[in-house]
Amino acid sequence: MKTINPFESAMSQLANAYGVLKSKIKDQKSKIELQNKIEILKQPQRILNVVIPVVMDDGSMRTFQGYRVQYNNARGPYKGGIRYHPNVDLNEVKALAFWMAMKCAVADLPLGGGKGGIVVDPKTLSSRELEQLSRGYAGAIADCIGPDKDVPAPDVNTTGQIMGWMVEEFIKIKRAEVGMPWFSPRQGPDLSSIHKGSTAKAVTRLETARLPARYFDSLRSTFTGKLIKDGGSEGREEATGLGGLFVLQSVLKKLKADSRKLKAPLAVAVQGFGNVGYNVAKFLDANGFKVVAVSDSRGGIYVEEGINPGLTLDCKKKNGYLAGCYCSGSVCDLKKGRVITNEQLLELPVDIIVPAALENVITAENARKIKAKVVLEMANGPTTPEADTLLYTRGIPVIPDILSNSGGVSVSAFEWEQNLKGQHWTKEDVNKKLKKKMETAVDAIWAVSQKQKTDLRTAAFVVALTRILAAMK
Ligand code: NAD
Repeated sequence: MKTINPFESAMSQLANAYGVLKSKIKDQKSKIELQNKIEILKQPQRILNVVIPVVMDDGSMRTFQGYRVQYNNARGPYKGGIRYHPNVDLNEVKALAFWMAMKCAVADLPLGGGKGGIVVDPKTLSSRELEQLSRGYAGAIADCIGPDKDVPAPDVNTTGQIMGWMVEEFIKIKRAEVGMPWFSPRQGPDLSSIHKGSTAKAVTRLETARLPARYFDSLRSTFTGKLIKDGGSEGREEATGLGGLFVLQSVLKKLKADSRKLKAPLAVAVQGFGNVGYNVAKFLDANGFKVVAVSDSRGGIYVEEGINPGLTLDCKKKNGYLAGCYCSGSVCDLKKGRVITNEQLLELPVDIIVPAALENVITAENARKIKAKVVLEMANGPTTPEADTLLYTRGIPVIPDILSNSGGVSVSAFEWEQNLKGQHWTKEDVNKKLKKKMETAVDAIWAVSQKQKTDLRTAAFVVALTRILAAMK
């Protein structure tokens, strides 16, 4: 099978959107200005290549390769998750960082795009080794991150707990730089007031000299996706999945107006059953959709009458795998379902497929076999450019990743804002703001796709690029 370079895919998406933007410009001077800015967007602004040493539990030393790519900060600090996976490579991190820049602009957040990754299979590490690796990575990139520079978050195989280790390490380093001792949370001041909203507030550099303790507290905003106890936001854990539901509902309303044959309950297959896959399945199930298939890295299950995502997750946790977890209604019954492969899942006769694992799973090879009427991209980069064209010509709308999964970074941005302002919003408030953000983004992209007669991905890139180009000097 042909290897697909995700950064090449990203650049081909950029070229499509550039084509649309260029075709609307008449005068030569503006054409050259556009071309010059697009040239800048073909490479990240900075790439950090780090090596992290870890003393393993058996006393041996292992080193791990890590990256942080800072793609573009025209609209605000770089923003993007950190991935732990054995297949992480620089082209993947560059592509993910580029998509983050586009995604933040789609959601109209005052943020740019970045991404990080470590080449590691975290399942092979003990908890102590994982903590040392995470702290080591935070230390290695500490000079280049901060609330007004670059704000990392979780991605595949990274969690709120890992963000907690990283933020603690980062603040420790920043305190040491100005000769302030580090107190562990157990011995030191209670930092929880930062998210109770009483005393803390946004702190500028000038105030730092007068308010060192508050300043260091505000550095918690350097990482998002933290646990609530470490200054995390209500609703962040579920935000990508819930945002996906809001985007899908919004797009379906517009497609219905377009008289498409989509009748409730719509059957859905979700590839990936991690943070994003599980949460999107949970919210779809709770909102009248019928989730008939889910999968993880070992394969999937198909339950025709619709799975119960919560029970299925409990069963997977107990058994260690999905096979046999045919949980529907309030029971799990071996007779109710069957095992399927990840490839079969994407070709099921369902209304909607939701790739929510890794990139390049919908390719020129399988795009012709897809029977779904809509693709909701919850993973980053799951569809190759060739597959995109094939699906478009077959009349299958692909709701693009930079729109569908932008709920995660939106609530990350809310977390950053809350930490900087010393506030802690209720879950109800967070979800209300998230819904509004997603619906506004869909409206903008839908309008461009109708006006320019393009697919939704190109329209999303046109919306994002227009905003980024306006912010570039
Ligand atoms: P996760 O680590 O929580 O879950 C990943 C899931 O994918 C797991 O169930 C894993 O078993 C499965 N998986 C791994 N390899 C697979 C394969 N080859 N085939 C099928 N399934 C496979 O990660 P996540 O946070 O849920 O992220 C999933 C995707 O969503 C990624 O593309 C990520 O970049 C994207 N994303 C995540 C967030 C977020 O807030 N976590 C936000 C936006 C986008």
